[in-house]
Amino acid sequence: MAVMLRFDCFRNLPSVASLVTTRGGGVSLAPYESLDAALHVGDDPRSVEINRAIIARELGVDCVVYMNQIHGDRIVLIDKPPPTPPECDAMISNQPNIALAVLSADCVPLLFFDPVNRAIGAAHAGWRGSAALIAVKTIEAMRDRFGSKPSDIIAGIAPAICGKCYEVKDAVKNEWRKLPDYLRIALKDNRLDLPLANRLQLNAIGVLDRNIETMPLCTYENDDFFSYRRANPTGRFASIIALRS
Ligand SMILES: [Zn+2]
Repeated sequence: MAVMLRFDCFRNLPSVASLVTTRGGGVSLAPYESLDAALHVGDDPRSVEINRAIIARELGVDCVVYMNQIHGDRIVLIDKPPPTPPECDAMISNQPNIALAVLSADCVPLLFFDPVNRAIGAAHAGWRGSAALIAVKTIEAMRDRFGSKPSDIIAGIAPAICGKCYEVKDAVKNEWRKLPDYLRIALKDNRLDLPLANRLQLNAIGVLDRNIETMPLCTYENDDFFSYRRANPTGRFASIIALRS
């Protein structure tokens, strides 16, 4: 089992460090075995700190900022290592050697890189965040703050639950029916395709489809990833991006 995955779109860029962790290669015990990166799920915090050190070493960046994710659409600018985890679901930065991490177990992790203005973003998009258009808002924040043009941005969509496996309740369906037309493509019968929904949002704001890479792995079907729908409690894997100096 591959312990860490890399996006092809970021792999050969000397100015970017990026990886997506799996369940393998850490020290946490069941039901968090083994590379759990989350402090809020009931795992032993000492194990999580060791796991986070393993992840930072593999990434080659000492400072990795993890969010206190709240299924909202708040975006925080990271210009120095924060003293405590920011309460938000997306971060943007143009500072080298400060990595931005998204924790997930079925939700969609999104990583962004603007090679022209040397800026990055990372967002966590579950059904609520996706309905709140967090992908669009994160790109807008990069544009407003760093002058990023959507057509320059390279985007990675890390493993998440797929549209075949993600059955939603009527209340969720009704919320999704209020969204822009193009997003309804992601809603079929009682199933919601969150990776597609985020890809469509990125297209709508001007991120070119050829600049978007989706890792074609379903977290629910693939035991290499933590999946909240498959097992609860469970751990969280991390999707991370950083600028190198
Ligand atoms: Zn699936």
